[in-house]
Amino acid sequence: MKENSVLANIYNNICRDTGNQNESAKLIAVVRFLTLSLITHSLINCVLVSFTGHIRGMVLSVLSLILFLAIFVFSYNCSTFMSYCALNVSILFWTILNVYYFGWNIGIQHFLVVLVVFVFFCKYKREKAKVTYVVLLFLLRLLLYFYCQSHNPAVALDIRVANAMQTVNSFFIFLCLALLAYLFSSTTQEMEGKLIEYNRKLEKQANTDTLTGLYNRRRTIEYLEKLLDDPSEQISICLCDIDFFKRVNDTYGHDVGDEVLRKISDTFRKKLPPDTFISRWGGEEFLLIFPHMNGDEAGTALEILRQKIKTVIFDGVTETFSVTLTYGLIEYDFHSDITTVLKEADEKLYLGKESGRDRIVF
Ligand code: GH3
Ligand code: MG
Ligand code: MG
Repeated sequence: MKENSVLANIYNNICRDTGNQNESAKLIAVVRFLTLSLITHSLINCVLVSFTGHIRGMVLSVLSLILFLAIFVFSYNCSTFMSYCALNVSILFWTILNVYYFGWNIGIQHFLVVLVVFVFFCKYKREKAKVTYVVLLFLLRLLLYFYCQSHNPAVALDIRVANAMQTVNSFFIFLCLALLAYLFSSTTQEMEGKLIEYNRKLEKQANTDTLTGLYNRRRTIEYLEKLLDDPSEQISICLCDIDFFKRVNDTYGHDVGDEVLRKISDTFRKKLPPDTFISRWGGEEFLLIFPHMNGDEAGTALEILRQKIKTVIFDGVTETFSVTLTYGLIEYDFHSDITTVLKEADEKLYLGKESGRDRIVF
């Protein structure tokens, strides 16, 4: 449906919120959709009852039409709760009067079932009142049934008119129930969707380092635990650290240091094989996990990275500069625990620093 089409405008107007705080925007839309259905129903009823020529029956139909029209207009000027109550009470008395006038056979009493659904659709937390109301509706239905058993309807309907009214009533009862079910389930699905999205965002935040967007240490340990728990293929792990990073901060400032961390992280993402798990282990240290590679293969990938990083130019305001990293690489031996694995990688990194930096120690 086009945003500016007539139908879209009508739909938006029906769904227009009352603007009152703490009121459900969905409920007022439900009230208006139900009222519109009942206005249409009353219009058809006016035509059908006119065939009977029964004045009081016709007055009832016309008054019903006016009542529902009034509620529709009222819904734009009053609180949602007031409109909801007005519609609820109106449907209740309207059903009783219709049963009294036209009898049990036109099936209008089923509107009491619509009220049961409607009352629980409403988000106001008055559970006791709702349950009491439903019990009263049940008793009222029984009362009307037994009343109709012993009394004739006030208007004697021709069988064709009675059948037509039964059809119209069935149609509108199904329509109202379907409307309520649709709007209710769409709210639930919407909420569920929002919750899933919110949980996804929260999970991402909990696993990600905010400066670089890489996985954080918490997520890395979780990943390593799972990976080392059931290692089916070779795994290589590399701990790497920016060389003389303190000097970068001291010379160009902390902000430039941050920019270096971000750009280095981007280079990792671009230059390492796609299934590499890249994380910021802490400060200017990164842990890279190669889940399907032996040490030699990971070494080759790291060499490409090492060469690339040396060519990345950073803007130090007064001059440009580049940085290097030192890499401690190990191949998982299939039986060490996480602490031992990390300790080994750290020792290799330390060796690399000791022997002049900007190198891969395997
Ligand atoms: P080495 O080659 O031995 O690794 O020397 P280094 O200077 O890199 O090592 P050192 O551990 O002495 O210094 C690390 C510096 O990293 C110190 C700290 O201020 C800086 N650092 C840690 N986290 C951040 C950060 O998030 N942003 C910035 N700008 N600096 C950071
Ligand atoms: Mg360092
Ligand atoms: Mg360090």
